[in-house]
Amino acid sequence: MPQCSFCSERSVIYIRDKGWHLCPEHFREYYLNKVRRALNLVRLKKGTFMVLGLSGGKDSFAMLSALAKLKGEYGLELMALMIDEGISGYVEPRLRVFKEASDAFEIPSEIVSFRDHFGYRLDEMVRISMSKGFTYKPCTICGVFKRYLLNRLAREYRADYLATGHNMDDEVQVFLMNLLKGNLTNISRDWVVSGVRLHEKFVVRVKPLYYCEEKEDLVYALLEGFKPPEVECPYLLYSFRGGLRRMINALEYLRPGTKRRMLALKDALRPNLMPEEGVSIGTCKECGEPSSDEVCKTCQLLNWLKR
Ligand code: SF4
Ligand code: ZN
Ligand code: ZN
Repeated sequence: MPQCSFCSERSVIYIRDKGWHLCPEHFREYYLNKVRRALNLVRLKKGTFMVLGLSGGKDSFAMLSALAKLKGEYGLELMALMIDEGISGYVEPRLRVFKEASDAFEIPSEIVSFRDHFGYRLDEMVRISMSKGFTYKPCTICGVFKRYLLNRLAREYRADYLATGHNMDDEVQVFLMNLLKGNLTNISRDWVVSGVRLHEKFVVRVKPLYYCEEKEDLVYALLEGFKPPEVECPYLLYSFRGGLRRMINALEYLRPGTKRRMLALKDALRPNLMPEEGVSIGTCKECGEPSSDEVCKTCQLLNWLKR
């Protein structure tokens, strides 16, 4: 690797759209400044209690490590929470990474499972869905149950914020998906901070890695001691996101800075689409959790699985 653009050390990453080669120390500074940029938009008070919803992958490792470094600066109290979806062969190595990382960074941690809360592992739910014509794809089921559980648990732990490891790549993919579906409401709600005032039972969500690219998360995590579990989710192939991801990465290669510009476009459009002020959603009549329908997606899915 060539020399760092700012000192005489060897670089570990090339930031293409800026034309910078960065050594480990300059890259750490660059990365943490991106995390600070997101956190500064949240206007955190000293003593804020943040529950981190983690997956055991590189993004969540990077978030855990970065927030453990910044927690003194922002006066944060942190807790790490991981959901065991129940995907054989995939969950075990991630649980190990999660446990080792939270212990190493001295963050209290908790693991909860779909099985304990909903009565099924994701593998079982996927089998049921397949036997019923594959109405719901694995990532849809997984996403609905995970969002529900993270919010409910963060509220039960009395968290001020629920942080997730969504990075710039995730944000751009979701933005494009919402554009393709014409879902302007979701675009308007999706930002560094979301869920504010939508429902009293919603814990405000924050995305500290909003401005960090996926490859930057990986390099940061590796520098901080991450050992990648060599497994991929077996349900990834059913995901629509995979194709979009490849397409956006190809565009980024051809025109460096594409992701950053798309994110900036989303942020500029967002306030004009549907301001969150005065917007609220209802309550599920079955479980009492926030829902935009009479019965929330989680209860709808559970009812469908049991039928
Ligand atoms: Fe869940 Fe889909 Fe991610 Fe697998 S790829 S963990 S099914 S969201
Ligand atoms: Zn340097
Ligand atoms: Zn419900």
